[in-house]
Amino acid sequence: MAYQSVNPNDGKVLKSFEHMSPAQLEKALAAAETCFQTWKHKSYADRAVIVNNAAALLRAHVDEFARLETLEMGKLINEARGEVQFSADILAYYAKHAEAFLAPTKLHPKVGEAHMESSPIGVLFCVEPWNFPYYQLARVAGPQLMAGNGLVVKHAGCVPQCAIAFEKLLLDAGAPVGAYTNLLISYEQADRVIDDPRVKGVALTGSMAAGRSVAARAGQNLKKSTMELGGSDAFIVLDDADLDKTTPWAVWGRMYNAGQTCCAAKRFIVLDSVADRFLAKFKTALEALRPGDPMDENTTLGPLSTEAALLQLLAQVDAAVKGGARLLMGGKRIDRPGSFMQTTILTDIKPGNPAFRDEFFGPVVSFYRVKTEDEAVALANDSDFGLGGSVWTKDQARGKRVASRIDTGMMFVNNIDWTDAELPFGGIKHSGYARELGHMGIQEFVNKKLVRSGHIAAPV
Ligand code: NAP
Repeated sequence: MAYQSVNPNDGKVLKSFEHMSPAQLEKALAAAETCFQTWKHKSYADRAVIVNNAAALLRAHVDEFARLETLEMGKLINEARGEVQFSADILAYYAKHAEAFLAPTKLHPKVGEAHMESSPIGVLFCVEPWNFPYYQLARVAGPQLMAGNGLVVKHAGCVPQCAIAFEKLLLDAGAPVGAYTNLLISYEQADRVIDDPRVKGVALTGSMAAGRSVAARAGQNLKKSTMELGGSDAFIVLDDADLDKTTPWAVWGRMYNAGQTCCAAKRFIVLDSVADRFLAKFKTALEALRPGDPMDENTTLGPLSTEAALLQLLAQVDAAVKGGARLLMGGKRIDRPGSFMQTTILTDIKPGNPAFRDEFFGPVVSFYRVKTEDEAVALANDSDFGLGGSVWTKDQARGKRVASRIDTGMMFVNNIDWTDAELPFGGIKHSGYARELGHMGIQEFVNKKLVRSGHIAAPV
């Protein structure tokens, strides 16, 4: 079955969906193009009414939306509620600020007058992952709908009900048919959508492999793309860090969303003088997490999103151990129904071990001990990824100095912020290119047009 909703808490199939037929896909693309021709001429105020309505509906039905994602991908119910609220914040943020972000800007040529103006480019194709089933959609829908673009969206195969719920949300909010369309399609159909001349840009959030394939296809078609890919963020603990404050963030940074976050703390790089104390505290805190039904508010360790995700993570841990890493705790599936993984700590990971370079998308800590700050920086930068990272120290200025030396798109000193509507989000290296959110996200798919005016004499 093409799209399948399975509860990872017990493995039961909830619902299945077929791929769209070629005729259904053609109808969706035609509707998106027709809608764009009027949507692009609507005022910001008119678009904002609809996008704000969607935010209000999300807030009014937090529990319904949250329960659906907890059912489909196992997110702890309180985290799911937080995600729904945050998705509403993103929509409201762009409803409020889009016009100012895209206002014409004056330039100052030596002769005549000039300005830059921003206009929508057309229907965009978005490919999104399951780990934040609504937030990932809000991250493209908020800015792009407000910019006047239209969206056709392929969501992940395991969250079809969330995908359908989000499309319905926008229709209920008053969006015209074709402004935002959910596509239940295969990879081959996705390629055809990228090739389609009505589609003008491609945004993907997902793995490096998906990024390679989709970006290449967009490139062949000379279409602009944005890529938000994986990460292996360093969590750098300096020798003067306040461990009582740092450890709870280490737990949150690794374990939020059962460790399935692109910008989760994944590589813990700790200065030798505090390494033993930090590790002992961290291990104790991880041992205290309670696996259980993610719908139960007392559960602190939910399942992974799918059985396949669990099997892949278990295989990665096995390969790490075969490659010489030491298993300090965990490493196995939890003996209960559903796709649960023990919280796991790997140490002694040397270059050459696959674990040194790969992303662990789940509750697996990679722990590294270093002697100096310089060594910590070098190790943090020795990664194919470049998404985010954090530095922990009592000396804020020192933290900022270290943050400046790390080659990533985002750095945090004494905090980990999974993201805020007003802060640009994105990475470098194999973590992708371009930015979503903040004042930058809305600029990615608009035509930045120069208009110069004034009677300038022709050269003789
Ligand atoms: P994934 O397998 O790449 O899936 C992401 C999306 O891409 C899904 O909708 C998937 O569809 C689709 N897809 C995959 N290959 C495709 C292809 N060849 N053509 C068209 N569509 C394709 O990613 P995942 O493993 O589920 O998600 C986790 C990854 O996303 C991690 O690496 C994580 O770090 C990254 N991520 C990055 C960010 C960021 O902002 N940088 C945010 C969240 C997650 P199917 O589900 O149908 O296969």
